[in-house]
Amino acid sequence: MSPRDYVSSCLFGPVRSRRLGISLGIDLIPPKTCTLDCVYCECGATTELTLTRGEYVPFERVKTELKNFLDSKPALDFITFSGSGEPTLYSRLGDVIRFLKSEYSSYKIALITNSTLLNLKNVQEEIMDVDLLLPSLDAATESVFKRINRPVAGIKVEQIIQGLAEVKRRFKGLMWLEVFIVPGINDDDAEVNALKDALIQINPDRVQLNSLDRPGTCDWVQTTAFERLDQIKKTFSPLSVEIISFKSLSTESENARNVANQNIQDAILSTISRRPCTIEDLISITSSSKAQVSLSLQELLANGRIAMKQESRGCFYRKAK
Ligand code: SF4
Repeated sequence: MSPRDYVSSCLFGPVRSRRLGISLGIDLIPPKTCTLDCVYCECGATTELTLTRGEYVPFERVKTELKNFLDSKPALDFITFSGSGEPTLYSRLGDVIRFLKSEYSSYKIALITNSTLLNLKNVQEEIMDVDLLLPSLDAATESVFKRINRPVAGIKVEQIIQGLAEVKRRFKGLMWLEVFIVPGINDDDAEVNALKDALIQINPDRVQLNSLDRPGTCDWVQTTAFERLDQIKKTFSPLSVEIISFKSLSTESENARNVANQNIQDAILSTISRRPCTIEDLISITSSSKAQVSLSLQELLANGRIAMKQESRGCFYRKAK
């Protein structure tokens, strides 16, 4: 299989992301299975709210798909566990990481996680060898945690903060911790100060402030003004903080040109099945011209495979239901 082919099942991409450059995604969790049901989630409402870990995709199949794809030595900045659910719910996550580290050690591994299982010792052991950990923490008080992340019963934000701090003490890779700001929920001074205390306790290498830039699960969620994000960034000082929600995708990786010849329609479907995108996003992700992407979108719309919705922040495409 060519590295430029989009692959089905548990692999997707390579896609260009704001934080990781060119990244092959591994999605081991059926949509939409998560420990949280965040109000801003780009993947839609959580349909399976659970704490139960499982081998949702057979480990042998994951190995075969990775082997088929990586044996052709594609140029990648990262192999990333992410997708439309919480990756640490995959019970053989540690086995996949070990497999990649032993068979494809030249590739760096990133893990995007909502942090809810990081207090578990077995999960901590499994993820210790990733190169870049991208956890999130949006609240430091229980009431705000419940409002913004709407967790499954049995998760407490205090446990999450302790788990993150423990992992950071033991972990040899980098930790970039994302805080998603939702106006009216976690952007008041009291919560921001509580978050700062938690972040100092955790001590991540970098804090990344994010805000809505595409449709979330709940229509009422608004984006946060850059000025407010900048104030929060200053409040979090002396922690190293960057605002990622207003960053242009086009500046992120020179390697994006390498994906120019991918099958554009497959690339579009693969991408928007995980998050809604504007045409500008898709042009950037596929490194294709506006004319090529427009044509593909028209065909996909005509075939009823995608849907389009006009939002205040632009016209977004998502997979048809
Ligand atoms: S944003 Fe992440 S953690 Fe929150 S519901 Fe969506 S997939 Fe789960």
